[in-house]
Amino acid sequence: MRRCLKREEASIFLINWQRHRQIQIQSCHYISHPPRSPSPSNSSSNAPHLVRDYISRNEIKLARHVFDKIPNPSIVLWNMMIRAYAWAGPFQQSIHLYLQMLHLGLTPTKFTFPFVLKACSALQALQLGRLIHNHAHLLGLSMDVYVSTALLDMYAKCGNLFEAQTLFNTMSHVDRDIVAWNAMIAAFSFHALHAETMQLLSQMLQDGISPNSSTFVSVLPTIGQANALRQGKAIHSHCLRRKFFCDNVVLATALLDMYAKCNHLSYARKIFNTVNKKNEICCTAMIAGYVLHHCMPDALALYHDMLCIYNLNPTPATLATVLRACAQLTDLKRGKNLHCHIIKSGIHLDTTVGNSLISMYAKCGIMDDAAGFLDEMTSKDPVSYSAIISGCVQNGYAEKALLIFRQMQSLGIEPHLETMIALLPACSHLAALQHGKSCHGYAVVRGFSNDTSICNAIIDMYSKCGKITISREIFDRMQNRDIISWNTMIIGYGIHGLCVEALSLFHELMASGSKPDDVTFIAVLSACSHSGLVTEGKYWFSSMSRDFNIKPRMAHYICMVDLLARAGNLDEAYTFIQRMPFVPDVRVWGALLAACRTHKNIEMGEQVSKKIQLLGPEGTGNFVLMSNIYSSVGRWNDAAHIRSIQRHHGYKKSPGCSWVEISGVIHAFIGGHQYHPQSASINNKLQELLVGMKKLGYRADSSFALHDVEEEEKEQILLYHSEKIAIAFGILHNSPSDRILVTKNLRICADCHSAIKFITLLTKREITVRDVSRFHHFKNGMCNCQDFW
Ligand SMILES: [Zn+2]
Ligand SMILES: [Zn+2]
Repeated sequence: MRRCLKREEASIFLINWQRHRQIQIQSCHYISHPPRSPSPSNSSSNAPHLVRDYISRNEIKLARHVFDKIPNPSIVLWNMMIRAYAWAGPFQQSIHLYLQMLHLGLTPTKFTFPFVLKACSALQALQLGRLIHNHAHLLGLSMDVYVSTALLDMYAKCGNLFEAQTLFNTMSHVDRDIVAWNAMIAAFSFHALHAETMQLLSQMLQDGISPNSSTFVSVLPTIGQANALRQGKAIHSHCLRRKFFCDNVVLATALLDMYAKCNHLSYARKIFNTVNKKNEICCTAMIAGYVLHHCMPDALALYHDMLCIYNLNPTPATLATVLRACAQLTDLKRGKNLHCHIIKSGIHLDTTVGNSLISMYAKCGIMDDAAGFLDEMTSKDPVSYSAIISGCVQNGYAEKALLIFRQMQSLGIEPHLETMIALLPACSHLAALQHGKSCHGYAVVRGFSNDTSICNAIIDMYSKCGKITISREIFDRMQNRDIISWNTMIIGYGIHGLCVEALSLFHELMASGSKPDDVTFIAVLSACSHSGLVTEGKYWFSSMSRDFNIKPRMAHYICMVDLLARAGNLDEAYTFIQRMPFVPDVRVWGALLAACRTHKNIEMGEQVSKKIQLLGPEGTGNFVLMSNIYSSVGRWNDAAHIRSIQRHHGYKKSPGCSWVEISGVIHAFIGGHQYHPQSASINNKLQELLVGMKKLGYRADSSFALHDVEEEEKEQILLYHSEKIAIAFGILHNSPSDRILVTKNLRICADCHSAIKFITLLTKREITVRDVSRFHHFKNGMCNCQDFW
């Protein structure tokens, strides 16, 4: 919330502050015994007039040049110089001159303090402000109405609402003028304390002080944030009655911003249209309103008008807003054009604009440009890192996201809530429990753990890392659950094959008075599918449109086909697809094809495969499935034919990849590859396991080997499936009591599924495999999926 000092300002301030402390010691004497004001010895000279003249023309540098030449400038002139810097900056100069005044033994007047305090506010220099407060007190000026109002404003702007309030309470009712009230109201509104702001406003009215347009400009933002439309409308009509509007662009901007935030975009636009002299801020507020309501074409059209019709130059805030629109539209071309414009105009140094550029490139999937741009940025903040981390996660570079997070920590940049929300899905995706746990710990330490979004992300992380009971503990402790919390938990139960728990939580959700949404039904249907609960699945599928008025989407149909086909009702699934109200996509057919393989139904497999080929290049992975269907019944020629079609079309099978986390490090393995530095010991372990497994009765499942090869060779090909390599590595490095968690990018194959059962018997270990669709918890030669996946 608090605006921060820019780095260079801070360092200058620090230097000044150290200098000031020395001067302070020397000047104490003068403060307690104010010397007489020096006589205006140079009044005859022309120089003071020149200083005034330059200041009035805003030529501060020239004014200072002349001022420095005057031997004994009058206090009035000192005050004028201090004021000039306090208005136009550099603010440090105001403070510097003030300290110089003290050093020379001059006594500040009640006109000095308001300006030097204003400079303190601009620099967020609370400590220095307190010191100056003390000076005013020693001079008996702190109760002066000008000084006390300035002090109040300084405390408020520096974020110390308590001291501001204390000072305000000590002020007499006569002294509490409109300026003092406005300072208090602005402070509370700035800190988004809506109730307190409104209370102050009503107290002000009770005190008989009539609010002016500045009061409302301060109050309106907090009304917008609190979505308090009625209060906003009341202020609007009050402004109309008091005719505050006549070309008050600042008030109009505050009003349109309030309406946009209160979901009344058309009102906002009406107000925008009434403004005669539109400025950059007014246009940007309106564009931001459009972006907030996802009306991107309107946002871009207004940006065009801003440049071409109103002849205004975009500010950094405008550009950041328009870049957000480009990101939402994944309009890379326009985004790049804007980037060029930004470089040409030199605005690219602004951190906000830089962050929006990162987001834009990330949303458009151009991660290299996003990362390159981050490296180039001179000032990075937590928002920059949140943008790049969430970009990495969205584009499937979860490991890179963790890497960047580590880089961020090593640079000493404190992550925001948004950073953690962006990072947790990376841990979920990689099943990186150690990283996930430390994210959770961090969220607790930073006091984020009451935030609903972060809790949802943590629940998802634990569930995807195989710790569903911890997920439930967090879910139960949550203070404010939203529908995403419920959905995440139900999905978690589903992928762990805990259908009873999933359905019971679903009933709890309905009993709690919350309404399930379309995602809830995807969660419920896939939970039924993972456990083969056909009747329940059918019931909820028809119930969702009948009782909850939710129209099934493609995802719901995929779940249903999956549910019917896996349970062996292939014909029913086929008819179900044909009766769909829209054209089924490749995923719907893919679900059926997978079941054709499990149930060895060649005829339907061929039929479905043809349908998929007609749908074009989307069906990549399905060639593999069909080829496996043929090889499962020994039709090797047909299997080879399918593979050759696949090659002919240039489709590549995505390689099977599994990974396992050992002491916080993710080790990834690709099927058949032996790139890992420890591949020799992994090989030995695998061969040793094979011998043991065969003694217990393991036979390699030939239907998943590529060609009609010798039995022994099949065994060896299958032995180097990525999940087996990862498990061997886990056995080598995990303590025997620890469960091994392996994550796979595809579905687990039937041979690995059966082999892992034998491995749990052989090694007396628990092994969990998270494949692309669910968890398989292996223990004592069994899997909790009951071979249903
Ligand atoms: Zn396998
Ligand atoms: Zn299983």
